[in-house]
Amino acid sequence: MNFSDHTHRLAHHEFLALWEKSCGAGPPAEPEFKLDPNLPAFEVSARDGRIVISGPSSIEWLYGVYDFAEKFLGCCFFEPGRERLEKTDSPRLPDGVLIPARKPLLKRRGFIQEFPFGPDSRELFDWMARNKLNYLLTWMKYYDTLDAASKEYLAVRGINIESGHHNFNYWIPGRRYNQTNPDFFAEIGGRRIASSDGKAELLLSEQLCTTNPALRREIVKNMVAYCRANPEIKTLSLVPNDGFGWCECAECSKFYDKNSKGDLYSVSEHVYRAGRIYHDMVNDVITMLRRELPDVNVTFCAYINYCAPSPGFRLEKNMAVHMAPYWRCINHRIDEPCCEINSNYARDIRAWCAAKDGGEVNIYEYYMGVNLYISLPMVHHADIFKEARWYHEQGVDGVLTQFHIPHWTAYGLNYYLMAKALRGEDEQTAVTFAMRRLFGADAPRAEAFYRKLKELLQSTGGCHIPYPYSLLSRTRPEQYRELHAMAQELSSDDPFRRELSVWTEYLLRFKAVFDDYHAGKAGIPEIEQFREWIHSHRATRVFVHEKVDMLLNAWCTAVRAERPWLHFNLDWEDAYIRKHEQRRTNHV
Ligand SMILES: [Zn+2]
Ligand SMILES: [Zn+2]
Repeated sequence: MNFSDHTHRLAHHEFLALWEKSCGAGPPAEPEFKLDPNLPAFEVSARDGRIVISGPSSIEWLYGVYDFAEKFLGCCFFEPGRERLEKTDSPRLPDGVLIPARKPLLKRRGFIQEFPFGPDSRELFDWMARNKLNYLLTWMKYYDTLDAASKEYLAVRGINIESGHHNFNYWIPGRRYNQTNPDFFAEIGGRRIASSDGKAELLLSEQLCTTNPALRREIVKNMVAYCRANPEIKTLSLVPNDGFGWCECAECSKFYDKNSKGDLYSVSEHVYRAGRIYHDMVNDVITMLRRELPDVNVTFCAYINYCAPSPGFRLEKNMAVHMAPYWRCINHRIDEPCCEINSNYARDIRAWCAAKDGGEVNIYEYYMGVNLYISLPMVHHADIFKEARWYHEQGVDGVLTQFHIPHWTAYGLNYYLMAKALRGEDEQTAVTFAMRRLFGADAPRAEAFYRKLKELLQSTGGCHIPYPYSLLSRTRPEQYRELHAMAQELSSDDPFRRELSVWTEYLLRFKAVFDDYHAGKAGIPEIEQFREWIHSHRATRVFVHEKVDMLLNAWCTAVRAERPWLHFNLDWEDAYIRKHEQRRTNHV
């Protein structure tokens, strides 16, 4: 049995199961699946009491089943693993087209998984298929742990895996090369670094001596071996380790202009640009790999000090760039020219699209703020639709976002609506549908709640980069009290609705500890109390507890060291936060 048969069988099974679950009995007739290569996507119609799902592939049939289930069977695929269903009578459907075929707005729609696979991974894969996401980018070290059955599970659901992310260390691990090939590693301050082999937790800032021809050949050799051992993988990455730390040897130094530093918007003013050296390596490695494995694609990333294509660089066949608007402003859309941060990212995205020559451009998003924004609000619902349309107009191929399941109550609506936006659904219809299904008759009050949350963000005045200091230093406690009261009114038996008020209570508490700390009235005991309160809500989907701990630990460390706490106690990062604040003050 081949791939399409399994997907076909799943589509058939899901159709019957979902109908029976919501209507209490099966459909009056078996569904019919019709292959129609001329359709741009699935189309659902009814004929003599039978549902006919046509489409160009079996995966589009599966999408058709899920779309039909949301629109006609009372389903709402809002959260992984938490079923949400309005029981309904079997729908009486007139003959004719029920859901017309619509070409997806963007080809690649996906998630970036920055954590290991676990017991809830299958629920996640189900959720992705139900929301028509078809791409999962994950770290190679996590993909290594995935069993064959899970790989099959993903394939049947049409989800392409990219095994990659930050991976210089995967291709050239320190444990294997530190002794034999010290010249593979970056030279800093006149000495070759010894790789920590990924053990330095955050911002590794350990790079390779990327101009070394023997190193490049070794990477290609290891890529070929990897693809032979994992033939299902068709997309790899070649992405520097997190952070900075590029090689300063004589050969590598030819690629830098020491007078040309990065930019404020991309948090790289303190280092020189590394675009030319990175793109030179990417070109060379992909050219060598293509000779051996012509059907394997290699992605690379664009952010911090290598945001834009270097002069003359072409995005050729087998290449894709993931462009990450790191520390973007979330108070403006990426396409708003008035935003002095995002307008730079928009320019970079246009430059990448102009460099397309058979390759692809994807956006690497953070529809959760960023990792250490720790569940503070980002309400990007309608904005995602406008951004998706703008990306489409520029020639962008896909959008992927970082995400976590444990904070779904805070950001799930961004993820759910992103999926709809990337397929090209209408903004108003999708937002209204989500509010009706999640809040029923309380939808207008829920809409008012989210408007108020958005107002909280906007009330910071101008740009807002999603780190806690930016929000908490520019908002007032009354705003959080008001939000909390609104969330309490929305509370019900439904876990998502109930958790909204845990979320707003958290915002209120965070703001209080923050203000007290700045007034000299709170220190480690208060921070620890706050932490304990957060950890007493492990059963909810409000917090990614490890990230909360990372930030609160940094806060306590700053208090102990009697240094002002801004974020994560990294001097260069704190300097940006101070600079943002200064620019705001100057504007006022
Ligand atoms: Zn070097
Ligand atoms: Zn802005």
